[in-house]
Amino acid sequence: MELIKKRTEIIRNGNDKGSFVAYWTSNTLRVNNNYSLKIASEIALDKNLPLKIFFYHNESHYKCIDRHTIVLLNGLIELADELNHFGHELEFVNCINDLEILNLIECHTIIIDKTYTKRSFDYTLEILRNYNANIVSIDNLYLPANLISNKQEYSAATFRRKYYKVTNSLIDLTFDISRELTRVKKIKSSENTKEKILKRLASLKDEFIETVNLGKNGAYASKENLNIFLNENLTNYEENSSKPEFEYVSKLSKDLHYGFISPAYIIKKLILRKLDFSSSFVEQLLIRRELTFNYTLNNKNYNNINGLPVWALKTLNEHGKDEREYAYRLSDFENGQTHDEYWNAAQNEMLRSGYMHGYMRMYWGKKILEWSNNFKDAHNITLKLNNKYQLDGRSPSGYVGVSWCYGLHDRGWKEREIFGKIRYMNMNGLDRKFDMARYVDRVRNL
Ligand SMILES: Cc1cc2nc3c(=O)[nH]c(=O)nc-3n(C[C@H](O)[C@H](O)[C@H](O)COP(=O)(O)OP(=O)(O)OC[C@H]3O[C@@H](n4cnc5c(N)ncnc54)[C@H](O)[C@@H]3O)c2cc1C
Repeated sequence: MELIKKRTEIIRNGNDKGSFVAYWTSNTLRVNNNYSLKIASEIALDKNLPLKIFFYHNESHYKCIDRHTIVLLNGLIELADELNHFGHELEFVNCINDLEILNLIECHTIIIDKTYTKRSFDYTLEILRNYNANIVSIDNLYLPANLISNKQEYSAATFRRKYYKVTNSLIDLTFDISRELTRVKKIKSSENTKEKILKRLASLKDEFIETVNLGKNGAYASKENLNIFLNENLTNYEENSSKPEFEYVSKLSKDLHYGFISPAYIIKKLILRKLDFSSSFVEQLLIRRELTFNYTLNNKNYNNINGLPVWALKTLNEHGKDEREYAYRLSDFENGQTHDEYWNAAQNEMLRSGYMHGYMRMYWGKKILEWSNNFKDAHNITLKLNNKYQLDGRSPSGYVGVSWCYGLHDRGWKEREIFGKIRYMNMNGLDRKFDMARYVDRVRNL
């Protein structure tokens, strides 16, 4: 119960009138283990009001390109199907002028998924400003962000210490809401949601990826992805997940980003396999991932270079005028046209699959810093490409991943040209540790 309280934040008290409760789903596109849906259903039952479930998304505001929208819409089809199973209909609105059909003016309480970046939060509030309903935001992380820390944590180590104070053993936090969902009164959608989504989908196309290869997305598909990982790759994760020539990784970052799957569900499966906090997969999923939400929530410059720690900015500035051996433009990077075969392969992996192996992401970001005119442009370019092409991009983990390459959550290293005290990576390191020819080959065959 305490945990639920910590997840709940009253954003605004409304006038307590209205004829229905609404759940605006955005980053938690699933029925199972969805705290927002649970709380929305409970409020609706308590007030004896029907529940409207809707999705509104302004594609241009969120800088989606078609690959993101294709994944999203496929996920929404699965969500609509799941909700139908309980007798609910998902209302889908993708144009600001259509918001009227939601009739939110009559709404008693609007439940929203907590947004972890200021930009999304401000946008959500701007939309809701026109209505008098109560607004309640719900945190769907494994542990609610404000339970761990309300300030920006310095590093994974400080965050981990606080996390372990709350719990140092994995707890099964999954729950079932079928009873509430079945009991709560329903509201019919004003249009045929699936038809509308399919129509929008038909007009979308990605330049690099066959649409069909982006097609399997959503709550059901994400559970399949998890099962494949657990059955085929988990035993190799500890030792081999950092090797880019193999794929002993979960590739769940996109499913987590859209909320197709909940961390709680993954943890439940890991508990069954007797894993605990000593497992590096748990470290990535809970500590490294949730640390990124701590950053975007507590640093208003999460999306630009000024969010970096003072020492990192200082050292980058001190080396701002160092001579660069290469100074590529955005288009050179974007087209994978550098002198470095490994870097180009990483870029191509992202272009062609919407995913880049985790180890290569670090090398990729570091090299943009090294081969750009200046570190500010470099940070911009890294973020721009990451958010444009990664299917898990435009997320807290994306902002942090990019800024990590520029010193965030890291410590100072031996000073050198261009990087100053920022951690450096080079090609020899890749050759020493990995079978890079095999990686390049793997990408070529994508
Ligand atoms: C330059 C750069 C850019 C990045 N951009 C993104 C991004 O846009 N979106 C994104 O989700 N992650 C990003 N990361 C973090 C990390 O590389 C990816 O989360 C991870 O590679 C995703 O692959 P996976 O799902 O197979 O991970 P796995 O190794 O299977 O890990 C399981 C889960 O743990 C989480 N995780 C793993 N590593 C990290 C990490 N370093 N930081 C935060 N969470 C982590 C992810 O949610 C991941 O799905 C970036 C890292 C760097 C260095």
